[in-house]
Amino acid sequence: MTRRSLFIGVAIGLPTFLIGAALLYAQSITPKPPFTAADAERGAKYAAESLRIRAEIKNMKTPAEPFKIMGNLYFVGVQNGESYLLTSPKGHILFGSAFPDTVDQIEKNIEAVGFHVKDIKVIVVNHAHQDQCGGTAELQKRSGAKVMAGFAEVPFLENGGRLPPGTSIPNNTPPPAGGGGTYPPVHVDRALFDGDVVTVGPLQFTAYLAPGHASSPTSFLYKVKDNGHEYRVLEFCCWEYPDDLSRNTNITEAGVRHNLELFRKLLPIDIYLETGAYAWSGTLNQSSGTLLERMAALKKNNMLFVNPDIFKSWSAAREVEFEQKLIKWKESNPVYRQ
Ligand SMILES: [Zn+2]
Repeated sequence: MTRRSLFIGVAIGLPTFLIGAALLYAQSITPKPPFTAADAERGAKYAAESLRIRAEIKNMKTPAEPFKIMGNLYFVGVQNGESYLLTSPKGHILFGSAFPDTVDQIEKNIEAVGFHVKDIKVIVVNHAHQDQCGGTAELQKRSGAKVMAGFAEVPFLENGGRLPPGTSIPNNTPPPAGGGGTYPPVHVDRALFDGDVVTVGPLQFTAYLAPGHASSPTSFLYKVKDNGHEYRVLEFCCWEYPDDLSRNTNITEAGVRHNLELFRKLLPIDIYLETGAYAWSGTLNQSSGTLLERMAALKKNNMLFVNPDIFKSWSAAREVEFEQKLIKWKESNPVYRQ
């Protein structure tokens, strides 16, 4: 073998070997305890099923029938979800306000389950995308409620989904796809930080920030009681990691590691709610049916919502997915080579 052919052999063979070794390692990644490889495997199936069901939603704003999820918690949103009402005789909390032009639909849904918009004391926003917060300004006007959101969402909310010309947030980006778009600006009364507790009369929820889908999407953890049982409910957004992690500046290794630890801290979650019905524990806890068929089944039997395996196994699957994508990212990101 000549020196030249040896060089070519090494030049071709070494990267191939490294890629092969990385793939082998990626395949063998298991999530850290208490998650198991079996959890991750089930979670990947839930994630795939959720994607499949989501494709059934042709128009996110399609009206949906409201119904009781569990205890004093109601779904009052449109077909893409994201409006939940937690009620009490001393006032209500509205999680998510849907789109700017679905406010009347949300109000109609709230009335249909026996409550009034004027009794909403707090409107809390998961993140500053139009499908989550577009109706907030109008619902604030109709209710006089205080508006709350994760601290890094506030500049977007107060500028209607965009930052004013000439301003910028270092290392930040406009809202990415998935509901980005403008809406009436809304004044935020309280910026939420990790672990903040919000109380309205007898109601209480804890806010947790999980950067990724936006700068500080906020998850809400609370308890509901139904028929003598107490259930831990979580609304979380969002799970996605792009194939190339560098494509989303809200995703960093440190930020995602915070999220992965958060998932462990939140266990067990009895009832999992995403920003849309395509990812509810109640939807994924059914082995077949269209989205609408599954929602209809949930109206008849709300115990279908209860399944602590959904959030646990989905968390495990996302941890494995992130670690696999991180290997690829580290190969191209100079910050990891120092
Ligand atoms: Zn979004």
